Amino acid sequence: MPTEFNPFRHLPRGYLSPSQVNSFMLCPQAWYLQYVEKQPSLTSLPAISGQTMHSVLEEDNHHVVDAGEHMSLVDTLEVWSDEWDKRQEDLTDKADRDKKDVHVVQAGHWMDQYLTKYEELDDLTPRSKQDIERKVEGEVGGVPIRGIVDLVSSSGKTEFVEVVDYKTGKRKNPHELETGVQMGIYASILDVPSVRYETFVNNKTPVIQTIQAHRTKRSIAKVERVVTGVSTAISKGSFPFCAPDSWKCNQKYCGVWHACKQGGKA
Ligand code: SF4
Repeated sequence: MPTEFNPFRHLPRGYLSPSQVNSFMLCPQAWYLQYVEKQPSLTSLPAISGQTMHSVLEEDNHHVVDAGEHMSLVDTLEVWSDEWDKRQEDLTDKADRDKKDVHVVQAGHWMDQYLTKYEELDDLTPRSKQDIERKVEGEVGGVPIRGIVDLVSSSGKTEFVEVVDYKTGKRKNPHELETGVQMGIYASILDVPSVRYETFVNNKTPVIQTIQAHRTKRSIAKVERVVTGVSTAISKGSFPFCAPDSWKCNQKYCGVWHACKQGGKA
């Protein structure tokens, strides 16, 4: 990183977050439009589904700490319904607003499996309220980073601690957990090398996939180089467009499509 790099001059907020780094790596122009031009970012159906499930799991984790047990299935689905209603106005495609009935069935399958799988509280359990949606702050690759970890969990009565990220969507590849930017950043700042994806997979029959990994020093060093590279590119004002055939470069997955010359602004 150049010695003259000053995060408070070059980074819009004086820091990066793991999601900002991922966003930049997927499309630097999308990062620029969202964080520098502050174009409104529209939300896709998969994003709303993920955010809604995160809110349900957050509330359930608080209930676990308060009451020593999970919420009932009915209560989790009530939270799901309220959270979905709060967000559905933000959907990019207005036709998607009619799909609540389909998604509540999917959420019901997911939560039924989740509450059965973790009923005993011997795995995937918050140690305290501070470990739920835990704020994380530190430096990675010389760059200030802030983020929020879904859960820092402990397993049963052991001292085993891991950093957990809830995902929704397709089944995850373990390689992503072993090498990806987001969990590498959290493992580095928290100094917790054990990481985990708890993925709510949207198969025809919705299932939960658990994958765990140990982040090596080498995998974290690679992430540090990525973060340094992103901050250097930002300091130079370099925001290229991603490849037009990237999965992201379409109206469904790019939240700033409407503001980009490669998208709807053309
Ligand atoms: S439309 Fe394509 S190039 Fe433009 S910001 Fe979105 S992903 Fe990037």
